[in-house]
Formats: sequence, structure tokens, C-alpha cells
Amino acid sequence: MRGLNSFYRSFYGGSFYRHFRRPSEFNHKHFRIQYTLKSPKNIHFYVNVNNGYHPCFIHVYDHGALSNLRAKNPEKMVLDRAFFDFDVSHPEARKIKEKLGSLRSHGTKYQEELQQDLMEKLRFKIQVGKIAKPAIDEAKDFAVKFKETFGTYPALFFSGGKGCHAYTFFRASSFKNINLAISWFAEHIKDSYGYQNMDLSVNKDAMARLSRIPYSKHQLTGFNVVPFTINDSYEDIIHKSLDPRVEKFHREDHSSDFNKHLQKIDLVESHNSQVNNSNLNKRPVFTWKNKKSNQWIDHRAFFKSLLGRPEREYPDKKYVMYHCPFPGHDDKNPSFMVHEKGYYCYGCQKKGNYWNFLRDSHGF
Ligand SMILES: [Zn+2]
Repeated sequence: MRGLNSFYRSFYGGSFYRHFRRPSEFNHKHFRIQYTLKSPKNIHFYVNVNNGYHPCFIHVYDHGALSNLRAKNPEKMVLDRAFFDFDVSHPEARKIKEKLGSLRSHGTKYQEELQQDLMEKLRFKIQVGKIAKPAIDEAKDFAVKFKETFGTYPALFFSGGKGCHAYTFFRASSFKNINLAISWFAEHIKDSYGYQNMDLSVNKDAMARLSRIPYSKHQLTGFNVVPFTINDSYEDIIHKSLDPRVEKFHREDHSSDFNKHLQKIDLVESHNSQVNNSNLNKRPVFTWKNKKSNQWIDHRAFFKSLLGRPEREYPDKKYVMYHCPFPGHDDKNPSFMVHEKGYYCYGCQKKGNYWNFLRDSHGF
């Protein structure tokens, strides 16, 4: 495909350390096949070699150094993107995939006609039965809401199966625990917007996180992983996927300061997990409501970690005062009161808890 090297260069960078992985069709761990990729040309090569026969997966994150990739050491990881997965759960399609998987475990030529027949059924379900539509519609909705808040659309890709992917890019940033932050964000928007098809499992472990390579061909359907926009119809997307042409990709078009939002969540969530992991700490922790103890978080501690020392503290009172941090309110007095269970501004009357605060200052 023309332009693929330059696509991979924009998407993954000019040099990096990632594994290409071909998850095994066989039920043996040692058959898992992986290669170290360092350049866009490497990706292109392995996609070509495996295309249509085997799934083509790659690490979402650049591991920053060969030794780190090998040692699974997160220290130098380049955390410059967030990846979201939408996947329709479809029992019939799953059955077909399982059957195909067990046939393919004997080789792609084993009972070839039956394999072809099952693949045809799967293709039909996707193309005519439109089983991927709920995932695609949700991803579009997510993209619109994301743009409203962060200013750019995530890059959307049809997976070639019954789902799709969304990537957003940002300046490489450091996080205490990016997994927790992205998981929190994903779980939260899944709940808030009722996204049935948002798959949270991909957000668990950044180190091991893999995604299907754009413009690779799905091994079970023959459909290609292709980009789409919120204006593409289902038919447009399938059409592109059957006859893919590499589209221009500019990472800036999908870049935002989402990292700053994630970093705020990171602060709270990594604090939570530390406190949760420590039996010594009996103080209320930074969650919306602590599931274990059913206690409310102490908002004074939360805002202290976010805004620093309060302007005013009173030894005998249970609240502290800040200058109001909301951009719309130019607060000359410290009018922003934070008590154990939330905040209230005497000036602009905004009130809520830490989650309201994150949402109101960042739109989520
Ligand atoms: Zn205010």
C-alpha cells in the first residue's frame, strides 16, 4: 500500500521500541510470536508478511529503550497517547470466531473449506448484518464529546471485526500510574454516557497494551483496519475497509492537552491506590465514595494536593479557604471553602465534590 511508511512514521514516530505480536492461534504459550520493532519500515514489513493470515498487534506505547522493552520496565515508556477500544459483544459472532479459532489451531489449511465458509458468515454479519454498528456509533459519539471538551477528535479506526479504536495524542507526559488514570476515565465515561461497547479490559495494563495495527488485515474477516471520521456512514467504512488507501495522517490533528486532565485523575487515583494498599492508613481516601469503608473522601486533602496550601486555615474549624480556582471567577477574597465532603464558593456559588470539580474544570 502506498504511503504506509509515512503513515506509520506519523502515527508511531520515526524510531521506537515496541513489540509486534502475533497472538497464537495455537493453545501453546510458546507459540506466541513476537518481534522487536524499531522503525516504521519494520512495522510495514511485518504487516506485509502476516497480513490476512495472522493478527498484527503492536504495543500502544514506545518502551523508550531496548533494555526496557525486554525487561518490561516501564521507566522510559513514552506515554504520549491514550487508546480506547469499542467492541460489540455478539454471541453468534463469538461462536463463529471460536469455531474458526479451533480449526485454525490445526493450521490455516486445516478443513480449509469449512474455514472459508465460517469466514464468509462472519463477513456477512459485519457487512450486511452491520453488527459492528453499535461500536462505531458509540466511538463517533465519544469522538464528538471528546472534541467538545479537549478540542480535537480522537483518531478513529475500524478494527476489521466488530469493533473500533480511538486514539488521542498528547505531549509525552509522566504519570504515577497511567493505567489507573485511563481506567478511571474510561469507566467513568462508560457509566456516564452508557457506552455498552466500550471495552475496559484494554485499559488495565499499559505495559502490555497492544492494539491492532492500522491498515493491517483482520485474519478472520479479510477486512482492513482503516481510519474513519464521524461523517463516514457504515457503508463508507466497510467500503474503505475492503479497498483501503492510505490516508494522510497528522498527529497534531488528534492531539490535545488530555494529558493534563489525565494527570489530575492520576494524582487522585494513585493516591487512592496507595491508601487502599496500606492497612496502616485509616483516613478516608480519595474516592468518590470509598467502596471498602463506605466513607467519604476528605476533600481538604484532595484540594491540598491539587491547589497547594490553603489561603486560610482555622485550627478549630473543619474547613479551609482558597481563592476560587474556577477561571470564570476572579476571586479577590479567598471565597472558596473546602470542607471534608466537598467545596462551596461564596462568590460564584459553585459547589460540589472533587468529581464535580474535575468535570467542571475539564468538561468531564
Ligand atoms: Zn468562585
